[in-house]
Amino acid sequence: MLVSAKEMLNKAREGKYAVGQFNINNLEWTKAILLTVQENNSPVILGVSEGAGKYMGGYHVVVGMVNGLLKDLNITVPVALHIDHGSYEGALKVIEAGFSSVMFDGSHYSIDENIEKTKEIIRIAIEKGVSVEAEVGSIGGEEDGVIGAGEIADPNECKQITDLGVTMLAAGIGNIHGRYPANWKGLDFEALAKIKAATSDVPLVLHGGTGIPTDMIKEAISLGVAKINVNTELQLAFADATRKYIESGKDLEGKGFDPRKIIAPGFEAIKASVKEKIHLFGSVNKA
Ligand SMILES: [Zn+2]
Repeated sequence: MLVSAKEMLNKAREGKYAVGQFNINNLEWTKAILLTVQENNSPVILGVSEGAGKYMGGYHVVVGMVNGLLKDLNITVPVALHIDHGSYEGALKVIEAGFSSVMFDGSHYSIDENIEKTKEIIRIAIEKGVSVEAEVGSIGGEEDGVIGAGEIADPNECKQITDLGVTMLAAGIGNIHGRYPANWKGLDFEALAKIKAATSDVPLVLHGGTGIPTDMIKEAISLGVAKINVNTELQLAFADATRKYIESGKDLEGKGFDPRKIIAPGFEAIKASVKEKIHLFGSVNKA
């Protein structure tokens, strides 16, 4: 059964580790992540962007697929199904479809409008037991075709949003989506410390977890980050393994053209990537 992200993130914040949010794109992605977290006794958040939801056929398909896998694969670790960078309408739609967690990304609105809309989402979500992530200060890089400039969130604005009763808060601290450029300045830990001080105990979310050096990940966790989003890294791992299979001509040998065989190396690559991340984040054996 899907659970809200609230309890797992509060436990993570107290225990000084982070829960990974891994974005899903299809059945294999979802199955690889679920099997890995079950094998490692770790809680997990499955992220679904609006684009990925549409790609899979719609939010009801996603909910049906995830619930079916939880049941048939006997997944017993806590699993939250979460919309990633949801619009106002998107967040409401997934609550209706049965997601257990939502992100409402109002970072591109004025702070007043972000507050109004976040408040409304919280009102609807919390009574259904759905956790809510809000965002202050846009995360740089590209997500579903939207390119953000990357900002350092204002601690006072973070406090205003947190006081509405959000479950978790994404705040820009120099992190960006996708691959980090060679001249990236790194995470701004001074800003993170200020945000943490202003938002008391709300679990903080670090977006753009692909390619952040491990020492920075560990420092971020020590400063209150309890959820880390990973998306691009799994895509790169899957693409790399699939390319090797095709380039080595394996699809031309025997029944190597069987889609289950073509996808298998990428599936294993996702599993390896998730395993590495949950060990780094410290969520192994915390289910
Ligand atoms: Zn993000």
